Amino acid sequence: MSDIEIARRAIKKPMKEVASRLGIPEDALEPYGRDKAKLDGDYVKSLGNHKQGHLILVTAINPTKAGEGKTTTTIGLGDALARIGKKTAIALREPSLGPCFGQKGGATGGGQAQIVPMADINLHFTGDFHAITTAHNLLAAMLDNHIYWGNALGIDARRVFWPRVLDMNDRALRDTVVSLGGVANGFPRQARFDITTASEVMAILCLANDLEDLEQRLARIVVAETREGKPVTAGDLKAAGAMAAVLKDAAKPNLVQTLENNPVLIHGGPFANIAHGCNSVIATRAALALGDYVVTEAGFGADLGAEKFLDIKCRQAGLKPELAVVVATVRALKLHGGADEKALEKEDVGAVERGLPNLLRHVENLRKFGLPVLVGINRFLTDTPAELELIETKCAEAGAKAYLCEHWAKGGAGAEALARAAVGTIDEGKAAFRPLYADELPLAEKIETIATEIYRASGVSIAGPAKRRLKALEAAGYGKLPVCIAKTQYSFAADPELRGAPTGHVLPIREVRLSAGAGFVVAMAGEIMSMPGLPRVPAAERIRLTENGEVDGIF
Ligand code: ADP
Ligand code: MG
Repeated sequence: MSDIEIARRAIKKPMKEVASRLGIPEDALEPYGRDKAKLDGDYVKSLGNHKQGHLILVTAINPTKAGEGKTTTTIGLGDALARIGKKTAIALREPSLGPCFGQKGGATGGGQAQIVPMADINLHFTGDFHAITTAHNLLAAMLDNHIYWGNALGIDARRVFWPRVLDMNDRALRDTVVSLGGVANGFPRQARFDITTASEVMAILCLANDLEDLEQRLARIVVAETREGKPVTAGDLKAAGAMAAVLKDAAKPNLVQTLENNPVLIHGGPFANIAHGCNSVIATRAALALGDYVVTEAGFGADLGAEKFLDIKCRQAGLKPELAVVVATVRALKLHGGADEKALEKEDVGAVERGLPNLLRHVENLRKFGLPVLVGINRFLTDTPAELELIETKCAEAGAKAYLCEHWAKGGAGAEALARAAVGTIDEGKAAFRPLYADELPLAEKIETIATEIYRASGVSIAGPAKRRLKALEAAGYGKLPVCIAKTQYSFAADPELRGAPTGHVLPIREVRLSAGAGFVVAMAGEIMSMPGLPRVPAAERIRLTENGEVDGIF
């Protein structure tokens, strides 16, 4: 049965019942239809910063193109913790529409470990991404409008950094020219579109503490420079107030349920390359105030997602995670071990063994943050006992306990061993979270620290203009910000073909961007796409409505 067929058969509980599992009163719910709700803003505020729960991060080895099951495992582990009697909240990112129509599909888990309503969450959901798109494009419109009406701020049209965004995989919009058509349409200039998940507004929404902080961060966005090189902000354009107004409801966390009726807060969805790749601070804090255990996910592999979760989100929000779970799959390990991408379903114990250094390096890396680490083997039906056993044995030899997880096939029952191990590990109280580098370290050295400690590069090569920009950002007072490295997710290195656990590679930084509102400096390593395209046969060709008006074909 396909994921969407399983999801359609879900026996959903009324939202007030789902909410009551976390002690959320009915009048704190703002229903969006029957099976989705937002949490009331005042209620979320009243929860404040009263952490009571233990925070568990689910991350992964470097993935294959299909994804290795972080979301699925986050859901399965959450359901399993609930099954063993723990008051559990799951905190996830919202899916982006673009990839749903492309190759990656949706982001609501898979098999028996899913969240529902599946089609709604993957399509428009509660409109948060539309609001973010609108707030972002409002700023773009106000910027060009300012130039049109005389340009009092002296914006240099050649130094406009702020793109427009759309929640769509549409390569035709990657590089564009705007304001063609004559005097009435403004001054023609080269421009670009990013996908909404790459918008700084998305990153801001996910890092903001509350509405006030949200507006202040929006005001700090640097959109352009003057001819003298002075930054121009959204605040200078007087745009932050209206942007915050557009985002009023998008700033409230959404509540949905798993197939096993456990509560899930799903909120925000920034990219894990040019942004930090995790759900909102507002939702994570609410989850920690409500649940005894909170399971959350960070995008891509642990080199990107976990590093940013820890060095950007946890640092900024003062969160103290207590455990990392690294998801590994037999097929991805085979890929890292040199197997052909088209032969990942065939037994190949040798390839799994050769691929294991990728997994073990991620485990080692996470320990550098002071976190205990468990491995969750996300079982696929094609995995063989010999392959699975080898992973468990080799992990144990390296001092990393690995647990076979069958939540995809069996729901929460399939991940109970991992859940018990998670509780046991947290109970030992050995977690001592610390970010990888200090705020005071110069920006170039922050990049170097991540490159050498996490990617195990021999060094960094920063292009001249990028080097000058880093210096300029430090001079302008942005030197204390953490860095967000935009790199391929398929490898520790900037070259996606370098599988396994490469060493001796050099991390090339060709461009640096400032996300002053989000509060990080983006360093671009290699060609990074901020507007994906659709594959030759996009998933959209199979998505349709059934005779009953239900959505089919999303996966
Ligand atoms: P990630 O969050 O790491 O990108 P997902 O959890 O979204 O990965 O899973 C990616 C895809 O793989 C989903 O379509 C999901 O249904 C599928 N999948 C995940 N785990 C399994 C499994 N154990 N067996 C079969 N398919 C799986
Ligand atoms: Mg995911």
